[in-house]
Formats: sequence, C-alpha cells, structure tokens
Amino acid sequence: MADLPGKAKVVVIGGGVVGCSVLYHLAKKGWGECVLLEKNELTAGSTWHAAGNVPTFSTSWAIMNMQRYSTELYARLGDEVDYPMNYHQTGSLRLGHSKERVQEFERACSMGRYQGIDMEMLSPDQAKERYPFLETHDLEGVLWDPTDGDIDPAQVTQALAKGARDMGAKIARFCPATGVTQDGDGWIVHTEKGDIACDYVVNAAGYYAQRVGEWFKPYGGRTVPMMVMSHQFLLTDQIPELETWSKENDGRKLPLLRDVDVSYYLRQEKNGINIGPYEPNCRAHWTDPTDPMPDDFSFQLWSDDLDRIEDIVADALARVPVSGAAGVSRIINGPIPYAPDGLPLLGPMPGVKNAFEACVFTFGIAQGGGAGKVLAEWIVDGGTEWDMWSVDPRRYTDYTDHQYCVDKGMEVYGHEYAMHFPHHEWPAGRDRKLSPVHDRVTELGGVMGAYNGWERANWFAKPGDDTSEESTHTWDREGPWQQRIKEECEAVRDDCGVLDLPGFTRLWISGAGADDWLRGFVTGGIPKVGRMNLVYVADTRGRILTELSCIRLAEDSFVLITAATAQWHDGELVRNALPDGLECRETTTERDALLVAGPKSREVLSGLTDADLEAGWLTHQHCTVAGKKAFLIRVSFTGELGWEVHAANEDMPAIYDAILEAGAKPFGMYALNSLRIEKGYRAWKGDLSTDYSMLEGGLERFVKFDKPQDFNGKAALLAEKQQGRKKAFAILKVDAGTADAPYMSTVWKDGEVVGETTSGAWGYRVNASVALAMLRADIAEPGTELEVEIYGERCKSIVHGDDPLWDPANERLRA
Ligand SMILES: Cc1cc2nc3c(=O)[nH]c(=O)nc-3n(C[C@H](O)[C@H](O)[C@H](O)COP(=O)(O)OP(=O)(O)OC[C@H]3O[C@@H](n4cnc5c(N)ncnc54)[C@H](O)[C@@H]3O)c2cc1C
Repeated sequence: MADLPGKAKVVVIGGGVVGCSVLYHLAKKGWGECVLLEKNELTAGSTWHAAGNVPTFSTSWAIMNMQRYSTELYARLGDEVDYPMNYHQTGSLRLGHSKERVQEFERACSMGRYQGIDMEMLSPDQAKERYPFLETHDLEGVLWDPTDGDIDPAQVTQALAKGARDMGAKIARFCPATGVTQDGDGWIVHTEKGDIACDYVVNAAGYYAQRVGEWFKPYGGRTVPMMVMSHQFLLTDQIPELETWSKENDGRKLPLLRDVDVSYYLRQEKNGINIGPYEPNCRAHWTDPTDPMPDDFSFQLWSDDLDRIEDIVADALARVPVSGAAGVSRIINGPIPYAPDGLPLLGPMPGVKNAFEACVFTFGIAQGGGAGKVLAEWIVDGGTEWDMWSVDPRRYTDYTDHQYCVDKGMEVYGHEYAMHFPHHEWPAGRDRKLSPVHDRVTELGGVMGAYNGWERANWFAKPGDDTSEESTHTWDREGPWQQRIKEECEAVRDDCGVLDLPGFTRLWISGAGADDWLRGFVTGGIPKVGRMNLVYVADTRGRILTELSCIRLAEDSFVLITAATAQWHDGELVRNALPDGLECRETTTERDALLVAGPKSREVLSGLTDADLEAGWLTHQHCTVAGKKAFLIRVSFTGELGWEVHAANEDMPAIYDAILEAGAKPFGMYALNSLRIEKGYRAWKGDLSTDYSMLEGGLERFVKFDKPQDFNGKAALLAEKQQGRKKAFAILKVDAGTADAPYMSTVWKDGEVVGETTSGAWGYRVNASVALAMLRADIAEPGTELEVEIYGERCKSIVHGDDPLWDPANERLRA
C-alpha cells in the first residue's frame, strides 16, 4: 500500500484469516474506513499452513453458531467478492466407539438440527455406504455432518481481504504495528511507516497476541492468557483406490473422518490423505527461555516429530486400510495458539476501553468467518447477536499466569476431542485460588471444582466413595456423588447445611447520587436502606446482561454482589457506567462467604451470633459470628430459610468451624444447583444470557417501566411488551431416563422443536428431574405436554409454568 492512512475508525493488527474476516465484516457493516496491519504477507502466521478443515460440530451453542455461520459465508464468499476458491463441502463422519460418545453425538446432532444443519446419526453400516474404505467393526455409532469440509486457508483469507478492500478498507502488508498509545477515548497505533489515529483497535495477532497485548498494559490491560502448541499433519502419496473412487463419483472427495476417541482427523487431499493427530504426549513451544519465541516466524515450520504421533497415525491407517501402503509425502508442523480452555479470545479486551481481541484461535479457519461477524458486532453495535460468553476474553481473570496457561493448553490439546462430562473436573491448573477454609473443606471430604479459578466443593465424599476421574466419565446422574448430593439436599431441606463460597464478586458503590445513578443503571427498583434485592442490567436491546444482588447500606452506599465468574464482566460493566464522583471499590478477594441454609439454620446460628435472626427475608446486618465481625444477609439460593455470612478471610476459619460444630452439615455446588433449579432460580450465562430478553426470561417484575430513569433497554422492552415476546421462561418436570437435561437440550411438541433447556438437574426435594427452559411463548402454558431430547432420547415432560416447584409461596424462605 502506497500511503498509510493517518486516520481510521478501526485498526486491526494481524492479517490472518481472523483479522481479515474482522476487516471484511466491519466493511460489510458500512465501516470501510478501517485499516489492517500485517507485519509480513497475509496468512504468514498460522493460517498459511492450516489443514483447512471447516467443521460445524460443537457441544457449545455459541461455537456451533459461529462455525455454522463460517460454512454459510464460505459457501457464498467466492461469488460475493469474485474470488473463486477451493471449498469442498464433503460432509464428515465422526466415529464413536462408546455409548457415551454416541450420546455426545446425539446431543450435538440435536443442537445442529435446531440450528438448521442437517446432521444425522448413522449406523456403522450406513457410514460404510458413504465411506466404502472405512473399517467399522468396532464402532458404536457415527455422526454425519453434511456441511463439514475443507477450504484453502490462504484463498479464504485473500477472498475476505479482497471483499474488505472492495468496500473501502485498507490493508498494509509488511507493515508491523510496533506499539499503541491511548489518545483520549481512541488510540494511536504506531508502525515503522507512520502512526494511525483510530477509535478502536483489534488484537488479531494470532500466536503473537501476547506480545501485542503487552502494549495495552499501561492502559489497564493484562497478560493475554495463552501459550503455543505444535500441531502436525502429514500428507500421504497418491492412493490408487481413492483416485478410482473419485473418478467414479463425479470427481467428489470422500467425506472427512474424525476418529475422536483415537484423536485424529483424516481427509482426502487430492488422491492421497491428510492425517492430523492431537497426541496426548504433545509438545508446547516458546514456553521457557531455552526455547524463546522468535521475533518473526512468518511462513516457517518446525521440523517433523513423527515419533510423537506414530501410534495414532498407525491407527488411522488401519481405519482406512487402502491407505496402509501409501508413503508419507510431507509433514507440516506448525504453531497453534491455545487459551487455557482451547477457545479463542473474542470480544472486549479486559480492562481497556475501545480495544478488542480476536486472537488465540485453535480452529481459526473453521471459526474465522463467524468470528469476524461477532467482533464487528461488538465494535459497531456494542453487543453481539448470539451470547458469546464462552469466548469472551473476560471469562479469565487474574489467575492465568504463565504456568497455568502452559498446563491447561497442554491438557486441552492432548484431549482435543475429549468429552466434557457434567461431573468431571479437569485436573491441570488447579488450586489457583483457595478459600480461607479450603483445607477444612477438603478434610471434610470436599471433592473440588474450579470456578473462575476458585476452588469450591462440588460434593462431599465419605470414606470409601470413589472420587477417581474415571468414575466421572458418564453423562448419567448416577455415580458416587449421587447418594451424597441427595443427603446434602436433604440436610438443607430438613436440618441445616453450610457451603463455603469463595470468590463472590463484591463491588462497593458510594458517593452522592449513587441512588439516582443505580436507578438508571438497572432495569428495576432498588432496595431501601437495610434491605437487599436482585437487580438486572439489560443491553440496549433489552437482553439480560447480568443479575446482581444489591445491598443498600446507606442512602448513597451499596454493595453489588455477583457471580465469581462474572468478576471482570460485571466489574467492567459497573465501572464503565459509573459517573465521576462515584466510587467503586472491590473486595472480592479480601472476604469469603458461607451459605447457611435449612429450617434449623436459625437454631445453628443463634448460639453464635448477636445478630437479630428474626429480621425479615432480604434484610442485612453487621454483627459478630463466633466472636468475629461478620455481615449477615438473609437470603438463600437454596430456597430454604437461610443466611449468607460474609466475613474477612482471616476470620472465616473460626466462623466456619463454629457453624459446623453447631451442627451444620457441609454441602456442595451440585446440591446447590439442584436446590436452585427446583426454585426456578436462574444461573448467570446459562439461564441468564443475552440470548434472551428480560421479558422472555420471565423477569418483568424486575423491570420498572414507570420510573423516570431511562435505563438501558427500556425502549426495546416497551416495544417487545407491545408486540409480545417470542419466547417464555418455564420450569419443566421431565420424565428423564438416566440423565437430566443438559444446557441446550431441544424441546419438542408435535414433532417440532419449540424451545430449549437452559439447565437441568434432579430435584431431590420434589423427587423429579427438573429443567429450566425457554419455550415458544404460545406453548409455555402450565400443563402443556412436551418432550425434552436428552442425549438423543425424547423424554416426556410437562410445563409447570414459572412458579417454583418447591415452596412456591416462599414460606420456607420467610420462616
Ligand atoms: C498444522 C496446523 C493445522 C491446522 N489445521 C486447522 C484446520 O484444519 N482448521 C482450522 O480451523 N484451524 C486449523 N489450524 C489452526 C489455524 O491455523 C489457526 O487457528 C488460524 O490460522 C488462526 O488465524 P489467525 O488469523 O487468528 O492467526 P494467524 O494466522 O497467526 O494471523 C496472525 C497474523 O498477525 C500478524 N502479526 C503478528 N504480530 C503483528 C504485528 N505486530 N503487526 C502486524 N501484524 C502482526 C502475523 O504475521 C500473522 O499473519 C491449524 C494449525 C496448524 C498449526
């Protein structure tokens, strides 16, 4: 490019498939005055050497949306921008070797069909009809995805770049960004060829994202949580049988194969095959000073390391026996960046205004198309069509140091296709954030899980219980935990339970005018002094951004308490909205909380505290518990009489011990989940997300249309109220088999999908499988008979409505 523009709306740093897709989608939205900087040639990072597979399969609704969109875009892009490219939608066969794997496929298949993808479960014989060279004797079932295929990664990147240029965007190749300076609300991006002033900047630097991220630290940024893995695929010589098959089938290619239990993909490349293993004995790169990351690795590869993958390759060759005699013609060994969960960082850059991330993609070819759409929506519209929390960079907070990223990245890569069972916790990167009573909790048998890095007990094992990882490899509710969860729920129902909940996000808001500001910030009313209530924040479309407990300490002094996982999301939401003169102080890590719940909780606490335990539901008070200063809130996510006990970390061991000694029984997160679902209490980013509006979520009682403040989403919600909501929240009782409904199980009526579940669990108090669901508004009437599809099994179900199944009048809570 001859002249670098001095100004732009957005500067995108990085010209791989993702950066080019962001630029293309910004231009599509009418933002043509954007510039992409690429330090070398487009595709020089991971993109040029990618295998180019474009699956839609995912067990995450958001990721599937993003990948599905990519396939739709890629199918039309060549024509749309007049840049022909090789995109083969061959379909794929995903091979299942076990009952559990087939259940996983069934669930993805049902989600896929809901998104309009014609996925199908096949028997091994049916799979063989589509892939005559396939060895099927040991298969349980096969998932067919007709939209899967492969694309030339360089061509799709160039096509996106051409499309963007044609709409006015500029691309500067061989022009590395060298730094950034914040300039008011905008940025100056520095390059060797001059500076560009812009409103927004995007880090799309692939495996260099951490380096680029460093530039944002003076402006509130953090170290980008990532590491780099080596991934290899090999290409074989020509295989005469494949050539013959293609000739006999109009030049078509065989479907792509993924043997996910053995851990590889295999696809026809010309008349040979391409095999790409994800090996458990994997190799990270650039993780320590003996292997420093070079300043420039453009268009480079590492040397082959076949030893690591030979067992998997041998297995793959045996799966397609005609390939057995073919020699290896080429091996590609290139870098892929990994975030700790293997999902990309896509969305607002944590802590930094008007900066975004679109980086650390492990499947950037498959996700690049959708990622561009999502990021352009973030920048131009301030929010995305689909809830994208699973890739939002703010899902990671301060615990993701270098070792954590390396350990998690290796774990994810080595289990790339692993099933994510509901009672399984991955072992790497644990014990990052410990509660002050952590040792006591584990002594009591706590089987721990990580929640935004915080260790919490999921359930309490008794001596002899099987707490092995293997025991969790099931989708079923039954397992060593089941009897214990039942006992824990019964203790909360009949007696008193205690749960240690470290990591609650606590934001203290104070200053003259806090009351007025808060009224304009949330959709509903705010509590009187001495009381608390739930408040919600909506986006401009009236969709649910978050839920907070709002505690009013004084006229202009509040504490907002929210989920541990929401720490950076909600912290930013509040801080960004806060006017000058108001203060926001955070005490998330300085304090701990206990839930004390059950009909005997008053009795348990009465000998320990000077608090007024007769004070009503939704009140709070400063007091002492076990002689230590504490803050008591009369509220209970369990639906039983109960209190939250908040105290300084150093005081919590004494308080916890005293409460246990007074007779409370420890309970865990699994019991809490069951108890809250029976009460219809929604959880953040499952039941409460930007996929639903406040009205759809059944939260109209938390919207105050008549208040003078013009809160976010008011106009949209008023319009929705007039037109009628499309979906409605409902509690379902499900005649479930061995498993309860996971997130995004499809709900059927008369052979048609009419909604989805957002969470599900066995309710031990109501003795039934319960699901929270979003249904088409016209069928959400209590008593309506439906079916919920759980891992492929359609289970009869009945709409209970949106009143809790347990204690609908809240008498137990108010006791
Ligand atoms: C062997 C192999 C096979 C793969 N196969 C597949 C597959 O089949 N399907 C799939 O979906 N994914 C696959 N991947 C992963 C895929 O390659 C990546 O996810 C994808 O290419 C990431 O694209 P990106 O645009 O985010 O990053 P990159 O392609 O790495 O682009 C980042 C760009 O930023 C540039 N840059 C960095 N710093 C600066 C700076 N300071 N200024 C300007 N520019 C800068 C770099 O030069 C680079 O071009 C594979 C990866 C490997 C290694």
